[in-house]
Amino acid sequence: YAKEKGKNNYQFYTNELNERVTRKVKLENSLRRAIEKQELKLHYQPLIDIHRGKVVGVEALLRWNPSFGFVSPCDFIPIAEETGLIVPIGEWVLKETCRQIREWQNKEVFPIVPVAVNVSARQFKSANFIENIKQIIHDANIDPTLIQIEITESVMLDLEESRELIQELREFGLKIAIDDFGTGYSSLHLISNVQFDTLKVDKSLLDKGFQNKNNISILKVVLEATKHSNHMTIVVEGIETKEQVDVLRAYNVICQGFYFSKPLPPDQLAEKIKEITDQE
Ligand code: C2E
Ligand code: MG
Ligand code: MG
Ligand code: MG
Repeated sequence: YAKEKGKNNYQFYTNELNERVTRKVKLENSLRRAIEKQELKLHYQPLIDIHRGKVVGVEALLRWNPSFGFVSPCDFIPIAEETGLIVPIGEWVLKETCRQIREWQNKEVFPIVPVAVNVSARQFKSANFIENIKQIIHDANIDPTLIQIEITESVMLDLEESRELIQELREFGLKIAIDDFGTGYSSLHLISNVQFDTLKVDKSLLDKGFQNKNNISILKVVLEATKHSNHMTIVVEGIETKEQVDVLRAYNVICQGFYFSKPLPPDQLAEKIKEITDQE
């Protein structure tokens, strides 16, 4: 009996494993053709300066809608990184962002704001990354200061090289943000050693920060430490409640989160920006 049961368990696990592998292969194959099939889109989430009551930027977030149904970036970005598909996909994201900025400028739908674009470690370290990005921005005839590159701490872990890349991107005029700050290990070392423009505090710090008010949270330490820094913008992401906004009012931070707006398709953005501006 035990032997039978063991065998069933074994089959159960192999079936589950098979399913997972099959889904991954399916996603990978579909992702390969996602660009040509025009299944990729960008949504945009506002970044709000609560003290001035203004939308001061948006973050471009990739959406993939294949025929078999929506897939979250959390599921397909890792596959894209693993397979190297992130390089052409990332290029598409940059081109589409530039095209969108140009369209917004032409239509004058709202005062133009910088757009933050996520760049994966693998894309950042790929050959010709800098040349490609310069070329794309040049071809689109976009002011480079309108684009902010979001990289994660993981990009910085090993490399002295990253510092030089970042330096070169900034000299070209691009802004650099460190995304998901506080989820890695070298955080404090990182902010004191690399020149960048924006620090995006990860939403996991926000949860921990405000659930237990008696704790001196990492978030508050970061906010206190950066309170008087004029050269660096602090963004707190994942804001979902009014209580969180109220705590953050004491600090000089930019806010991003579902409380203000979900990431939206471009045709819904103008109206949302107006709504936020009137309200804040
Ligand atoms: P991220 O860059 O940290 O982006 C913020 C994520 O938090 C987005 O998830 C956004 O929808 C979500 N978010 C915003 N406000 C809230 C909130 O109030 N509550 C909660 N629970 N979530 C909130 P999304 O769009 O699913 O993207 C997930 C991750 O996928 C991104 O995290 C980023 O790392 C990656 N990603 C998305 N688009 C791209 C892209 O174009 N290129 C690359 N390389 N990565 C991307
Ligand atoms: Mg981001
Ligand atoms: Mg983030
Ligand atoms: Mg992230």
